Amino acid sequence: MVQVLTLEKQVRNWQLEHLDPSNPVQVWETKRRISGELHYFNIEYRRIYDSASKYLGCFFLIHDRTEEFIKYNTERYRATHDKLTGLYNKEYFYDVVRAVLNKNPDGKYNIIVFDVKNFKLVNDVFGVDEGDRLLKEISRITADFGGKNCIYARLTGDRFAVFMPRSIFSEDKLLREFSVLDNFIEQSKFKIHIHIGVYEIVDTNLRVSVMCDHANLAIKTIKDSFKSHVAYYESQLREDFIGDHRIISDFETAVSDGQFCAYIQPQIAVDGSIRGGEALVRWIHPKDGMIPPNRFIKILEQTGLISRLDRYMWETACQNLRRWSEMGFKKSYISVNISQKDFYLLDVYEVITSLVEQYEIAPKRLHLEITETAVMDNREHLNLISRLREYGFIVEIDDFGSGYSSLNMLKELEADVLKIDMGFLQRTENTGNSEKSKIILQMIIKLAKSLDMEVITEGVEFKEQVSFLAEYGCDIYQGYYFAKPMTVSDFESDYLNKRFRMK
Ligand code: C2E
Ligand code: CA
Ligand code: CA
Repeated sequence: MVQVLTLEKQVRNWQLEHLDPSNPVQVWETKRRISGELHYFNIEYRRIYDSASKYLGCFFLIHDRTEEFIKYNTERYRATHDKLTGLYNKEYFYDVVRAVLNKNPDGKYNIIVFDVKNFKLVNDVFGVDEGDRLLKEISRITADFGGKNCIYARLTGDRFAVFMPRSIFSEDKLLREFSVLDNFIEQSKFKIHIHIGVYEIVDTNLRVSVMCDHANLAIKTIKDSFKSHVAYYESQLREDFIGDHRIISDFETAVSDGQFCAYIQPQIAVDGSIRGGEALVRWIHPKDGMIPPNRFIKILEQTGLISRLDRYMWETACQNLRRWSEMGFKKSYISVNISQKDFYLLDVYEVITSLVEQYEIAPKRLHLEITETAVMDNREHLNLISRLREYGFIVEIDDFGSGYSSLNMLKELEADVLKIDMGFLQRTENTGNSEKSKIILQMIIKLAKSLDMEVITEGVEFKEQVSFLAEYGCDIYQGYYFAKPMTVSDFESDYLNKRFRMK
């Protein structure tokens, strides 16, 4: 009874509120608690007139839309939130952050992205349930971090984002909060590490997705640290990243326009004569000028483009050797670099043998520089090296001593030349171990000789180095002390026929 009376009273109120005769049909929404439960209604109010336009009365159509409304809200929730953690999903995060930035274009905010290091390992080793539990725990920490002033999201699998006023961001607090994860996986030594990338928003007009990319880019700079780590986005990071992209996109044009240029660095025998040289690539970029190989080789290797460049360098070397033969220098050689990736991308044997046949040059005049990592642990590659040697090429082990060269490698990989990296000596000199490293150098040279290998030392910068290397029995020298890498025409005119005084 109470209910009916209340409803009646409500209807009278509505009537009073909607008396406007110029508006004979009115529709609105309202909600009302019935037996403790909230209900949602659509109300349609119509005034009725006779044919002479005399007002006869009115009626209300009351439509309970509660079910519809709940369904709509559930769907909307699903479309905007992450199912597992209940945080906003990526798209909704972008929308809500954009709305806040539009409202406060002068505000100072940060976007912070978290990423669980080795998350896949958690799933693989401890199970998906543990993985889910971890994600929920991270979302709890994330949501607690800045309270109501922040907007939180799970961007993808193990990536979370927070948008917050810069004034409340504290790196220490964040690391403290995440430290509870140290013992997340009980009875295991496995530690959870969170990588944190921070982008301090400078340009509020930037797309929110790009802001998140910036924070992600910062995360990429955190290498294999064993601690939770925080990195800040700096515009230099973006420039490097753009640089990598430009290398890839400019590559094709560079090849077809002949922007790659083979420089040659002379190699000098112990008697001072020039035996040949190493071909080292230079990219003569029309806008950026000369780009050194360290800037682009790695990215070309990562993308597999290296094989095109290397093939070009090998062919150029063969063309030069052909010309030198015609000039009367029939013995001079050129060393070319073979990247580890080439073995996977090319039929190295087929390409190299065809080239020397095409240009009619003796294979021993093309030296092939390979690094230990390029061939070790791969029987097929080791066999390939043997076949190349049988064909007549000179195989050199490059960068010996610069990485993790093992003596075992000398047993497995049969080569003609051991190329020792002088950096090995320079590094140890800095730590005051120069006497020790000289002894090692001496032993390596002795070892190479007893294995019937020639020894080249590269990176020779000082006279004193030449002296002791000669004493130890090094055969060939390459380094700034003698000459820097130069254009082929400079090499031909100034070095091909040159002899250095060694004493
Ligand atoms: P790498 O094969 O070890 O080449 C020797 C590098 O040492 C060259 O650097 C050379 O300029 C430098 N160098 C020579 N003498 C000295 C010296 O006395 N002191 C010092 N500090 N450095 C010296 P570059 O030309 O910048 O080449 C760097 C690396 O790029 C090469 O190291 C090689 O790994 C790679 N690279 C160069 N050209 C090619 C190529 O055509 N194909 C492939 N796959 N890699 C290449
Ligand atoms: Ca080399
Ligand atoms: Ca080298």
